Amino acid sequence: MRMLYLIKPGEIELKLGNRREFIRRLKGHIHQRLAGIPHELEEYPGRFFLHVPREHAERVRFVLERCPGINGIASAIKTEKTPETIIRAVLETARAEVERGSKSFKIEVRRSDKSFPLDTYRMAVAAGDAVVEGIPELKVDVHNPDFIIMIEIRERAYVYSRTTPGPRGLPVGSQGKGLLLLSGGIDSPVAGCLMAKRGLALEAVYFHSYPYTSEEAQHKVEQLARRLAVWTGGITLWIVSFTEVQQRIKKGGNESANTLMLRMAMMQAADMIASRIGATALVTGESLGQVASQTAENMRLSQSPTSLPVFRPLIGIDKEDTIGMAKRMGTYEISILPNEDCCVLFSPKHPVLRPDFAGMKAYFASLELDGAIAEAVSASETKVFSFSEALSEFGWNEG
Ligand code: ATP
Ligand code: MG
Repeated sequence: MRMLYLIKPGEIELKLGNRREFIRRLKGHIHQRLAGIPHELEEYPGRFFLHVPREHAERVRFVLERCPGINGIASAIKTEKTPETIIRAVLETARAEVERGSKSFKIEVRRSDKSFPLDTYRMAVAAGDAVVEGIPELKVDVHNPDFIIMIEIRERAYVYSRTTPGPRGLPVGSQGKGLLLLSGGIDSPVAGCLMAKRGLALEAVYFHSYPYTSEEAQHKVEQLARRLAVWTGGITLWIVSFTEVQQRIKKGGNESANTLMLRMAMMQAADMIASRIGATALVTGESLGQVASQTAENMRLSQSPTSLPVFRPLIGIDKEDTIGMAKRMGTYEISILPNEDCCVLFSPKHPVLRPDFAGMKAYFASLELDGAIAEAVSASETKVFSFSEALSEFGWNEG
C-alpha cells in the first residue's frame, strides 16, 4: 500500500529564474534524504506529490518536516477523476478528521482540468452533501471550519485536508556555504539551523583544549553536529585543538582580555578554514549582551581577524526563545548535558566590557599567534556526518 504526501514548496514570491533553481535544489534534497526508501516524486506548479510505501510514512514525514524549502505537508489521496471516486476519498478524509475530534468542515475545489463534468461549485456541493449525509457528526461551516477538505482535479484527482507546516525558508545550498562555530552550548546549534533554513550549506568547526576540556565535551559537539545534519542533509565537523593557542594567550598576562583574545583567534582560524572549503560566511550563536564577550565592541574586535560576513541569527533573540527553538530542532537535550567550555577554563574574573579597539588589536598582534593558529588548523581533524547518521541519532534505523 502506498502513501501519498502533498508537499508545498516555500518562498513563492521568488523571481522566476530563482524559482527554477529553488525547485531543482529542493527536489534534490528530497531525493537525497529519502535515499533507501522507494519513492516517486511528481512535480506540478506550486506542489509536489510524493508516493512512498506506507510502512515508511512516519519516517518520511519526519524527514520532510526538517527539509528547508518546504512550506507545508499534507497526507493526500489520489483517485480516478470521477465524482464518485472523489466523494469516496472525501469521506475517508472526513472520517479521519472526525477521529481527531473535528466537528465542522468546508470543501474547496480547484480544477485545472476544465473537461471534468462538474464545475468547482457543483463538485463542492456534491462532496459537502455526501459528507453531511454520511457523517452526521460533521456540520458545514464556511467561515470558521475545524478543517478544510481540498479537492484538486488535475490529470487525476487529489483529496487532502490538514497541511502541517514545514520548516519554510530556502533549500540548503541555494545561498552558498557557511562555516558554523559550533560549541557544546544551546545557541550555536540553533544559529546553524536557522542559517541552514535560510539556504546556507554548512560545515562546522569546534575548538577544544584537550586535556583541559574532556573527550565527553567533544563527543557532545559531535552529537550536536549529527543532529544538525538532519536539517542540513549532512555536515562536516572540523575539530581543532586550541590548547597551544590558549596557553599562549594565557602567557600574554592580560587576564581580563583572555576571552576576547580567544574569540579573535577562533575567528582567525575559522577564516582560514572557510577559505579552504569555499565558505563565504561565518556563523555564530552570539546574542547581544548575553555575556561579557557579546557586546557590540567585543564583537567588533572578535570579528576583526576576518573579512567575511559573520552571521549571528540570534543577535536579537531572547534566551527563552532560543531554548524553545533548540527544543523544536532537537538539539536542546544534548546541549544541556553538563560539560566544561574551553573558554570557561581561561575565563577572566573581570572580562573587558568596553575594550579599546586599537589597544586590543595591538595586544592581539603582540601575542604573535599566527603560527600557532595556522598549525592548529593544519593539524585539525574532520568528521563527516551523513544524513542517515543524523536520522539514526533521532532513532530512525536504516532503510
Ligand atoms: P553557545 O550556547 O553557542 O555555546 P554561548 O552563549 O555559550 O553560546 P559563548 O560561549 O560566548 O556563548 O560563545 C559565543 C559563540 O562563539 C558561540 O555561539 C559559538 O558560535 C562560538 N564558540 C564559542 N566557543 C566555541 C568553541 N569551543 N568552538 C567553536 N565555537 C565556539
Ligand atoms: Mg558556549
